[in-house]
Amino acid sequence: HGRNGNGRMSPNSPLKRFGQAKKSINDIFKDVQEFIKDADTFVEGIGSSGHMEGVTCQQKVREHREKVRSIMEVLARDHMKVVFFGRTSNGKSTTINAMLREKILPTGIGHTTNCFLQVEGSDTQEGYLLTEEEPDQPKSMESIKQLASALSNVKLKESSLIRILWPKTKCRLLREEVVLVDSPGIDVTPNLDLWIDKFCLDADVFVLVSNAESTLMQAEKKFFHKVSERLSNPNIFILLNRWDISVFEDDVEEVKQQHLDRNLEFLCDELKVMGHDEGLERVFFVSSREALASRLKEQGTPTPTGVMQEGFQERLFTFATFERVFEECISKSAVKTKFEQHTKRGKSITTELRVLMEDILKQSLQQHDQMVTVRREMADELDYMEKQLSLLTCEIKDKIKNIVEDVENKVAMTLKD
Ligand code: GDP
Repeated sequence: HGRNGNGRMSPNSPLKRFGQAKKSINDIFKDVQEFIKDADTFVEGIGSSGHMEGVTCQQKVREHREKVRSIMEVLARDHMKVVFFGRTSNGKSTTINAMLREKILPTGIGHTTNCFLQVEGSDTQEGYLLTEEEPDQPKSMESIKQLASALSNVKLKESSLIRILWPKTKCRLLREEVVLVDSPGIDVTPNLDLWIDKFCLDADVFVLVSNAESTLMQAEKKFFHKVSERLSNPNIFILLNRWDISVFEDDVEEVKQQHLDRNLEFLCDELKVMGHDEGLERVFFVSSREALASRLKEQGTPTPTGVMQEGFQERLFTFATFERVFEECISKSAVKTKFEQHTKRGKSITTELRVLMEDILKQSLQQHDQMVTVRREMADELDYMEKQLSLLTCEIKDKIKNIVEDVENKVAMTLKD
């Protein structure tokens, strides 16, 4: 299932598709770049030999070269993005840590996330932080604890962003270019429109971390209504978290069915972003805390007692199933939305270039034809002149002959006398 215990790369992970698509589209653009380089040399040659409008063509070719360069720049930065929403303390940070298999984000009652935290991969050995205010000044990751207290003590703007760059070598998701964004609790009277503009327009997947102890709140619903107004068919997952505490309930199955019905009603009937069958693949009853503990245990960290509740295996299995469906979904969506655009633009660039080159060829063929005509006309003229000349020469010869004869006659006459 694209995963093994230590989070190492597995050859059939759906996430790989993104990297492969990215590489092949990058190779295609490299070819386009080569083609443009050739075109540029060709047009430059034509321009410098003084033929046609070589300079205008050259300018056009260079504009295309610039376009390709900027597409390749965007392409290099393209990634798969998932944003987590939900009210404070539902377990967003815990879920992200569980997926990353490492305690990267601060969690817990005392560590309310007041701003957006974005975890992304870096090629460095050590992790570091970047803030919006000082984007050029990496801050040491030792300060994650300071970060934690800063997040809960300092009044950061709810729409500000802190980027956490974490070594790709330590985490498979980051290595495969997934970027995970944690949001402030949706219960903090947020500016939803700003949140969407700033963090959601390039998101491939949204995960609503809900709470198995309560129903969806109005703010959560309103947010997703706004998202689906702005993005066509957003990919939404709902995690009914804290399902471990359900072991203390008597009527678990009944409660579960109620949650499922309500959430499906929200996704399918209210938001209308998916059908009922698909909806069943998007709602998961999990315990992120148990999932995190079990993954840390795989790496040698002992599980604190009391974390794993009865029946945890099923919840761990559900969490892993969620991850598999999520990986499938995010890679498909990112490949489609991100690379489809690049492919379209690449196609239009090569088409325009071909038209341009064909124009140049047509023009130069026309010029060639013109030259041939001119040469032919000149040759005809020469022929004519030659004939004229030979005619003239004959005439002159005759005349001279006549004159000579005339003179001879005259001389003869004189001698007679
Ligand atoms: P956030 O504010 O949504 O990011 O929530 P956190 O991830 O910080 O979690 C808040 C508290 O809930 C922490 O003390 C977590 O350990 C706890 N928590 C998170 N997930 C679960 C869970 O599945 N079950 C239980 N029992 N507690 C959880």
